[in-house]
Amino acid sequence: MSDFTMTIAGEGVSAPSTFDVVNPATGTVYAQAPDCSKEQLDAAMESAAEAFTQWRKDEQARRKALLAAADALFASAAEIAPVLTAEQGKPLQDATMELMGAGVWLKYFAELELPREIVQDDDNAFVEVVRKPMGVVAAIAPWNYPVLLATWKLGPALLAGNTVVLKPSPYTPLATLKLGELLRNVLPPGVFNVISGGDALGAQMTSHPVPRKISFTGSVETGKKVAASAAPDLKRVTLELGGNDPAIVLDDADPAQIADKVFGAAFMNNGQVCSAIKRVYVPESLYDDMVEALAAKARSVKVGNGMEEGVEYGPIQNKPQLERVSALVADALSNGAKAAAGGKPIDGPGYFYQPTILADVSDGVRIVDEEQFGPALPVVKYTKLEDAIARANGTHFGLGGSVWGGDLDRAAEVASQLECGSAWVNTHLALAPHLPFGGFKWSGIGVENGPWGVYGFTETQVVYRSKI
Ligand code: NAD
Repeated sequence: MSDFTMTIAGEGVSAPSTFDVVNPATGTVYAQAPDCSKEQLDAAMESAAEAFTQWRKDEQARRKALLAAADALFASAAEIAPVLTAEQGKPLQDATMELMGAGVWLKYFAELELPREIVQDDDNAFVEVVRKPMGVVAAIAPWNYPVLLATWKLGPALLAGNTVVLKPSPYTPLATLKLGELLRNVLPPGVFNVISGGDALGAQMTSHPVPRKISFTGSVETGKKVAASAAPDLKRVTLELGGNDPAIVLDDADPAQIADKVFGAAFMNNGQVCSAIKRVYVPESLYDDMVEALAAKARSVKVGNGMEEGVEYGPIQNKPQLERVSALVADALSNGAKAAAGGKPIDGPGYFYQPTILADVSDGVRIVDEEQFGPALPVVKYTKLEDAIARANGTHFGLGGSVWGGDLDRAAEVASQLECGSAWVNTHLALAPHLPFGGFKWSGIGVENGPWGVYGFTETQVVYRSKI
């Protein structure tokens, strides 16, 4: 039996079987989560389809309900945060921030004004472009920000008039199941269903006949499977996938001034952020200073169990990911890289890894070319700026990128040459509910957030009233 229940048609539901959820800070089982059956998946989809017929009709009621959902999250953030820390690993204050952030996102969508789009009003016709909800949305989330990234889908999908069936990652289902429980009395039954299970449940959702839209956040590899699974039914997809964000440091930057910011954007959530800085390009003249400033910061931060006071970085979220980061660092070291800080797992229980800065590493080595998604940052030397820009862009990824320099206009000009969804200047990871977020190339299809995010949950209809 599990203390955690799914939410289907407004009811708390246990599953015929359960699966283990491990606390990454200890490596031991923390709780059991329900393993949704095929019949329960069908029931969730049917309840969402039934709820859609009413939910789509009253925009003001939807806004009110979304606002109440945001308030419920604000009120319960402190209560749910320890569950999020236990399953995900992030420090308690970061877990609380994630849950409060999820409330901020829901509130933003509750209040977002969408302008009327009258495209013709003359003697011939009155023509308006309107946005119609699609129906049931299948939402699938990853393990790095389970609740926050779920609300990036939930808020705009519900505002637009859709209903939702959400599946969190099997690594981190618990706080999301709590979110479902929290909103049971806030949203009408069937409007928001939460089910939990393994990867196979995700595949069953994407091939299910009911949903018209799949909103997916996760890896490139799974994103391609989702797109393939959606194709036969021409389901709409939004795919928020992996990244390998470059940061380019210009020769007029001051390493002492920017190192902490670059470090913060690379190691946030222990490097487990889709658009974290994942490789840094530094000119020869600043290279040693930049490496040393980053390494000094890496050596100074406190890593530990997220429930302990003062801990800044928790464990890597799961064992396969710890093994992947370990393998990428070992591969770089065996190819001539030097660990200016860290370089190996931390002894003891749990999935801890030393914050790692790698020097003397270049493109062609796996940790530069691939997404590491963990606390290890390669610093790459360059001589010609054009070359650094070409290398920054020379990848299948295109989520974010940043340029750091003393002359803002010059840095902005370089940033404009980046082929990615967010091009930042003297910052990285500046994300907000009103800014469209998405990736070029393999980093995704479509965007989330802002009105653009809402439109992704709608079909576009022209209403043409002839006057002649
Ligand atoms: P993942 O692709 O392994 O899993 C994501 C979700 O998909 C999970 O819920 C999983 O159960 C489900 N899933 C697995 N196989 C499926 C299938 N065949 N069909 C449907 N669903 C399936 O990703 P992850 O390891 O949980 O997350 C890490 C990845 O997510 C990284 O690559 C990261 O960059 C990316 N990410 C992207 C964004 C973004 O907004 N672009 C945000 C966060 C994370």
